[in-house]
Amino acid sequence: MPRQTTCPFCGAMLRSSARFCSMCGRDLRRPATPRQRPARSRFRLSCGGLVIGVIGLILICGALNALLPDRAVTSGTADQERQQSVGTTGNDTPTTRPPTPTATQVPSAAPTVTVAEPIIAGEQPLEVHVIDVGQGDSILIRTPEGKTALIDGGYDNGLALAYLREQGISQIDVMVASHPHADHIGGLVEVLRALPVKGFWTSGATHTTGTYEQLLDAIDAARVPYYEVQRGDTIPLGRLSFEVLHSNPDADDLNNTSVVLRLAYGNVSFLFTGDVEAAAELDMLSTVRERLNATILKVAHHGSRTSSTAGFLAAVQPRIAVYSAGRDNNYGHPHRETIQALQQIGAEVYGTDEHGTIVIVTDGVDYQIQTGYDRPPTAAPEMPGTAPSSNNTTQGDRDCRNFATQAEAQAFFLANGGPARDPHRLDGDDDGIACESLP
Ligand SMILES: [Zn+2]
Ligand SMILES: [Zn+2]
Repeated sequence: MPRQTTCPFCGAMLRSSARFCSMCGRDLRRPATPRQRPARSRFRLSCGGLVIGVIGLILICGALNALLPDRAVTSGTADQERQQSVGTTGNDTPTTRPPTPTATQVPSAAPTVTVAEPIIAGEQPLEVHVIDVGQGDSILIRTPEGKTALIDGGYDNGLALAYLREQGISQIDVMVASHPHADHIGGLVEVLRALPVKGFWTSGATHTTGTYEQLLDAIDAARVPYYEVQRGDTIPLGRLSFEVLHSNPDADDLNNTSVVLRLAYGNVSFLFTGDVEAAAELDMLSTVRERLNATILKVAHHGSRTSSTAGFLAAVQPRIAVYSAGRDNNYGHPHRETIQALQQIGAEVYGTDEHGTIVIVTDGVDYQIQTGYDRPPTAAPEMPGTAPSSNNTTQGDRDCRNFATQAEAQAFFLANGGPARDPHRLDGDDDGIACESLP
């Protein structure tokens, strides 16, 4: 049975893939208003509820705009800042004004991020964390004003959620599922059940798996606004926004349904590609080639040879390429030819299998890469300008700080694949015993 949805304007029943209402002719896919979740009758919203919700949202947006006049980007200021920030990474045209510096200083010990009272401190950097979740993708973004986005969550192995907790994240403002494969959405289910999520964005592609069902259940249970995006849409993240460069729920291969996002902060830009393969890359080359250029590329599909075609990499021209893949995974990711192709175009390549969690910190002019082995061992979030601590955990039991006892660590280690997977290298000396340093 085809998925169905209700027109938010006239209440007509429509196929969920419809772009225009066949009754009233309104465009169903453009507005950034909450859409109905993929249809399952027990969760279907009434049309009246939807209309009231949409009207309510419009009123709230109006009120917010009145309260926050400085949200508008003035081109003069943006131009000035563009001129000031001609620097080391100038392969990008800034499209978003960096936050206005203010006198407000955030106490260096402030561990939590709240959205009710956004932290606004112009000197704070943007952070992009490519989290080591084993075989899978999960990317955390923290903006200078304290907003958070999570693109994918890896498998349901608890690693993404554990990392968010370790970072002191108390809320996710923007959650994106690039596509419905379990190595991208499994961990999102765990986060949805544990933390407040302010909005969920995806292509609208569905899947028949239990994990996908759990994802819909978790979105419903937490009453998270659900949005489907298409190319050309933007996803707001405080004063920044993601630009949607690809999203195709009707693609033959689920990987090619992936939502591809570009995020620019000053002169530094990021391209998040999900698991797109050659067909989707070709599609982007013929539609948004001039938007693909990015300083930092999250390499598509875990570094698979089915992605990262020569034409695509030539259009992106990344300085830094980061892939996420599990150590000794069964797919052979990343493929050697992909790494070579990235190196040939001059990109510095980082991977979670080799470097653990990879954090890119940027002020919009320069950027800095911190790898898992550089990260301070404490759970305290980092403040701008903090040099990576030299007081590291050993390379062996490097994530054992997440456990109180060796027995606890051992149980987690075995439940997550034991010696064969060990994505966080709890068993540094490969003797089958995790975290021997713990009591
Ligand atoms: Zn994947
Ligand atoms: Zn996939």
